[in-house]
Amino acid sequence: MAIALRQPESAGAACAVAREEAAPLVGGGTILYRLVNEGRLLPRSLVSLHRAGLGGIEISGGRARIGATTRIAELAAEPELGFLAPVVRLFGGPALRNMATVGGNLFARQPYGDLGLCFLALDARLHIVGEPGERELAIESFYADGIASGEVVAAVEFLLPDPGGWRFRKATRRTLNAAAVIGVAASLTQGGGRVSGARIALSGCGRTPVRSKAAEDVVRGSVLDETTARRAGEAAAGEAICFTDAIASAWYRRRVLPVHVRRALLGEDGR
Ligand SMILES: Cc1cc2nc3c(=O)[nH]c(=O)nc-3n(C[C@H](O)[C@H](O)[C@H](O)COP(=O)(O)OP(=O)(O)OC[C@H]3O[C@@H](n4cnc5c(N)ncnc54)[C@H](O)[C@@H]3O)c2cc1C
Repeated sequence: MAIALRQPESAGAACAVAREEAAPLVGGGTILYRLVNEGRLLPRSLVSLHRAGLGGIEISGGRARIGATTRIAELAAEPELGFLAPVVRLFGGPALRNMATVGGNLFARQPYGDLGLCFLALDARLHIVGEPGERELAIESFYADGIASGEVVAAVEFLLPDPGGWRFRKATRRTLNAAAVIGVAASLTQGGGRVSGARIALSGCGRTPVRSKAAEDVVRGSVLDETTARRAGEAAAGEAICFTDAIASAWYRRRVLPVHVRRALLGEDGR
């Protein structure tokens, strides 16, 4: 059966067509096309977001706005987003990074969703275009409740992290092109030698990326040293509900989680 490819020229039009035809939206298609090719999804039409005007990165006043169809590879070309360089480097392979979009990453099943993990730590807000118009949604609400079928994520917006306040670590089975065993992203603010604010997000520990409030509580108000980082790792493991998949067992994830939280907080970034 032939599948029609719709290419509307705005997010509003994409939403309208998606709803009218009960058609899935497509960003880069790295997840969706596989489902179609394997016959697990049999839509009559698909709604590509390529021409909907949702690309591009804007940085102003310490705030970043990333259009949903921005490719992962494009993030590496923006100097102000240099803190995301380790995320991009460890994200699939070059071909995948040139196809996969930022918006699509929010819908990736765990343990994928490396950018979503970062956006959770950055307390991002999503711009959603739906039937009644445009609205903003906190990333935590997005992960808790999702969005309605046909609604389009148009952009992601967040404050850039403080200089020296960003942490990211992705533990994988092999060096490149691998899904996370455990992912850790943290945005920290420090003053007077102590951590004044902390948002710590984990992947490999739930249906979506999750915050570790126990780890945040340990870190906030403390000097960020080996002892604090170790205690934060233990606190994170104490509340994490890890899962088993083809990459690692829940037992293994829980076991290595404190190590990676500690290393991430101490600035041993990347893999
Ligand atoms: C070999 C391989 C390696 C991978 N490696 C990684 C990795 O290292 N890290 C990682 O995080 N992920 C990885 N992924 C998963 C995936 O490629 C990425 O998460 C990617 O960012 C998904 O984006 P996409 O645009 O291709 O999504 P698509 O396949 O286009 O869409 C995925 C889902 O999101 C919905 N969607 C897409 N865009 C929007 C939007 N703007 N608004 C509303 N709904 C939307 C679609 O309807 C669909 O349900 C990998 C995948 C493969 C095949």
